[in-house]
Amino acid sequence: MVTRHILSVDVERWSDATLLAGWVDRRAGQPLVQAQTEQVLSILAHTGVQATFFVVGEVAKDNPGLIRDIVARGHEIGCHGWTHDLLVDLGQERLMADLGRARGLLQDLSGQPVTAFRAPTWSLDRKVPWAPEVIRKTGFRVDMSIFDGRHGIYGEPVATGRPLRIATDAGDLFELPTAVRSWSGLRAGGGFYWRSLPRRWIAASYAAKSYPAVGYLHPWEVGRPTWQFPDAVPASVRFSMTAGADAFAEKLVWLLSAISWGPACKVATDQAAQLAPRMVLGSGGLRPIGEAE
Ligand SMILES: [Zn+2]
Repeated sequence: MVTRHILSVDVERWSDATLLAGWVDRRAGQPLVQAQTEQVLSILAHTGVQATFFVVGEVAKDNPGLIRDIVARGHEIGCHGWTHDLLVDLGQERLMADLGRARGLLQDLSGQPVTAFRAPTWSLDRKVPWAPEVIRKTGFRVDMSIFDGRHGIYGEPVATGRPLRIATDAGDLFELPTAVRSWSGLRAGGGFYWRSLPRRWIAASYAAKSYPAVGYLHPWEVGRPTWQFPDAVPASVRFSMTAGADAFAEKLVWLLSAISWGPACKVATDQAAQLAPRMVLGSGGLRPIGEAE
């Protein structure tokens, strides 16, 4: 049987990218986010793929019709925070308040239970060992916030790369780690990697996985950018946000057709999910439950 992988779309403004913090007003991308997301929706409709859309609460508040449109097309809504702040910057209390607020709004607008969460910029890692319990307590069951490995400011190594359960005092959180590794150890899991790497190489990396692996993209990545970066933004940041964007729509159609995809919560309720190993997130990283830190 072909393994179904999980496609996720992070619905945020281009100006929400953490790489741009300090250079751009977070709200600068608001006028574009609806059209950018509609473009992704048409590509998904064209290829018959269903996905999980992790939406920033502020974006949902400003674009309520967009949430209804995503749902009407058969996709699943997940939460990408109320703002696009890193978990470590929010702290425990504010995360609790923000997640409650965002989840409430997304459920009202979508008319569906919202049980999947993705932290902004993969910020669930050993710096915030308290976060899984907060995420579980606010009603989430599935988490896709861990970027497997170390990459600049983010990442938390997952020894197997496979789905796992993070045990918390409030119950288990089913974790689907991101950052599919290819045979060579390089990442091929979405975003910049999808825009930059050869398409057949990406498809082969997914085909080699016997468990549900995650792919991700942002609506602002698809197509030639229609915004202007402020002059102060370094060339390296511009490159990582826009490399390969011109040709990405066409490449995305190919990737969505070549790999078998579905939304997260359907996969998480499979029997296999119940068998995933149980781990704890501590200040030293992930460890099997029962093992001392
Ligand atoms: Zn994001």
